[in-house]
Amino acid sequence: MSPNTLIAGPCSAETREQVLETAEGLTKLPLDYFRAGIWKPRTRPGEFEGIGNDAIPWLQEVKEKYGLKVCTEVAKAEHVEAVLKAGFDMVWIGARSTANPFTVQEIADALAGVDIPVMVKNPTNPDLKLWLGAIERIEKVGIKNISAIHRGFSVYEKTKYRNNPNWQIPIDLKQELPNIPLICDPSHIGGRDFLLLDIAQKAFDLKYDGLMVETHFNPSIAWTDAKQQITPFQLGELLQSLKVRGREEIAADEIIEMRSQLTTKDEEIIRILSERMGISEKIGNFKKEKNAVILQNNQWEESLRKNLEKASKAQLSPQFSNQLFRLIHQESIRIQAKTFSEDKNEQAN
Ligand code: PEP
Ligand code: MN
Repeated sequence: MSPNTLIAGPCSAETREQVLETAEGLTKLPLDYFRAGIWKPRTRPGEFEGIGNDAIPWLQEVKEKYGLKVCTEVAKAEHVEAVLKAGFDMVWIGARSTANPFTVQEIADALAGVDIPVMVKNPTNPDLKLWLGAIERIEKVGIKNISAIHRGFSVYEKTKYRNNPNWQIPIDLKQELPNIPLICDPSHIGGRDFLLLDIAQKAFDLKYDGLMVETHFNPSIAWTDAKQQITPFQLGELLQSLKVRGREEIAADEIIEMRSQLTTKDEEIIRILSERMGISEKIGNFKKEKNAVILQNNQWEESLRKNLEKASKAQLSPQFSNQLFRLIHQESIRIQAKTFSEDKNEQAN
């Protein structure tokens, strides 16, 4: 079964042939919109920045030849003017633009009084308010059909994702704006093709309203985002593999949604604990260098007291917090002691 709204097409429009061949492949799927980036926001200068205006007729051709609706990213008033003139069916605001209220306002002003659907990607940084603010700016100029696209967030730590999903942020967005459809972009979250299915499935389990998937007739030769693009055929397979739950399962749906939220939280706990233990190891090395003892009792008691106080304010039971922090402390000591004993082994060798 297909998701409610399906948007697919290449990261960038590269050549007329690439655009048309990809679109032709997609005609076999229940596609709602064909996407292709014409102006590409690149993190570093000197990279391919999109074909620009010259690609507009290629998307018009997709519309005429295959009867597909087309959309692209707009980042300036002049982009908006160009695509409105060309009769595009939808536009989206990219993650880097959403992070900048001046840019969003410029786009909003250019869209004022026009009846065109607009999708707003989450900002690159994990900030719900910026995302909401961008949507509000578009709403304020009279756009009625607005959707939100979840494409993940930049985090400094390395994770398996290109852009960390931080699922809680779109869940919170949905809570604030229950009537705005939420689309998942597993391509930019995953950054690699083999991650797409799991991300899309998770989005489905969280009752998203659709998917935007980067699709290229031959991803290996794509000019941008080659690792995350899939062929139209692979997209068909992905859609087939998605488990979409039936209406009769509504009660269970809610549990699945909550379990999914728990899994996200557990993943966060694991990441934070692992980072914390990494710091313990660094402290161990430092103490070893300074020839200091591992256990510094005063310091530990003081930090336990403060943590228990904070935990109690956060409504955690005293017994649970006490056990949890003692366990974390024990493990921290074990890791520090290991650094010391590794040193002894080295000396013994
Ligand atoms: C894109 O969709 O190709 C794109 C540039 O996305 P984002 O703004 O999410 O990085
Ligand atoms: Mn891309």
